[in-house]
Amino acid sequence: MRLADYTTVRLGGPARGFVRAGTENELIDAVRSADAAGEPLLILGGGSNLVVSDEGFDGTVVQVATRGVSRDGGPGVLTVAAGEDWDAVVARSVAEGLAGLECLSGIPGLTGATPIQNVGAYGQEVAETITAVRVYDRVTGDVHQIPNERCDFGYRTSRFRGAGRFVVLSVTFRLAVQVLSAPVRYAELAATLGVPVGGQVESAEARAAVIELRQRKGMVIDPADPDTRSVGSFFVNPVLDAPALAAVEAAARARSGPQARVPHFEVGDGLAKVPAAWLIEQAGFGKGYNPGDGARISAKHTLALVNAGTASTAALLALAREIRDGVRDAFGVSLAPEPVLVGVTL
Ligand SMILES: Cc1cc2nc3c(=O)[nH]c(=O)nc-3n(C[C@H](O)[C@H](O)[C@H](O)COP(=O)(O)OP(=O)(O)OC[C@H]3O[C@@H](n4cnc5c(N)ncnc54)[C@H](O)[C@@H]3O)c2cc1C
Repeated sequence: MRLADYTTVRLGGPARGFVRAGTENELIDAVRSADAAGEPLLILGGGSNLVVSDEGFDGTVVQVATRGVSRDGGPGVLTVAAGEDWDAVVARSVAEGLAGLECLSGIPGLTGATPIQNVGAYGQEVAETITAVRVYDRVTGDVHQIPNERCDFGYRTSRFRGAGRFVVLSVTFRLAVQVLSAPVRYAELAATLGVPVGGQVESAEARAAVIELRQRKGMVIDPADPDTRSVGSFFVNPVLDAPALAAVEAAARARSGPQARVPHFEVGDGLAKVPAAWLIEQAGFGKGYNPGDGARISAKHTLALVNAGTASTAALLALAREIRDGVRDAFGVSLAPEPVLVGVTL
């Protein structure tokens, strides 16, 4: 079986072993058996943040297919099995009059993966509403809850990312019991909704607007739209200290003249986040950029690298390297990949 059939970018060679775990016990058993046999293990959710080598995975892939949503924890508390489709959970929360996830509408993948990179979009991230993550600990063999404050959530990261020690079994969210959305923080979304930043609308309205914005950018999976055959954003937005930002500003002025401005957002501690898409475009890689071997930049979003249909993982990574090196040469900033790379490096 080819992992290309299980990743949204439709790339990845064969897996030596493949187990679909429909219950929590099956999931834990499959992981325990692989670990006992010293077998390399890949936990697979929706495959929307995975770049797998053309050679495939020489070990066991365990596909998470557990189900169940519980509201037993009190008003606004939702405990969701790792295998539940994320967008269905967001849709349900909105339909049930719960706020806090509405801006995370339209993101592919499964709920169990959301804490891994602290999924975020349009001014919200799951770290704001997750109270605890229930895990199987591959080191101790125990099942236990990790409270939010011990998840080490940061921008597109957490203690779970890259570590492989914990298998997420379920995630508990505490949402606000209200028809209105959380305050809208993202300027583009606020403008679309016709409210000031910090304003509120009905959550259902926010969800619809987010999905529409995302569709325009090719950020909602649509089998009929080749621009969505991607892993979403390929690079994270770099967070720069003051000297690094000043160097980017100087490079921008040298390239485009004294009026050049570098867009950035203060993120505290004297640090600023610079949109990777802006750096990539300024370095000469526009939407639709196509070096011609099957991988190209989406025609709708500079950060999405897509498989035009005939790409290989090698071609996708060659494009990613070309972009990374171009940005580094132009601005001295080294872009880091957002997806999890399996059997390959950038
Ligand atoms: C079109 C598109 C748009 C996207 N937009 C966004 C966005 O706006 N914001 C954003 O943050 N991300 C976005 N993403 C990235 C991706 O959807 C998220 O990271 C998502 O949470 C990945 O979920 P998944 O189930 O597909 O995980 P997978 O890709 O299957 O796995 C990702 C990683 O998590 C691990 N993992 C998965 N499940 C578990 C588990 N139960 N326990 C332990 N480890 C696990 C895997 O081993 C792997 O390392 C986008 C992707 C696409 C294709």
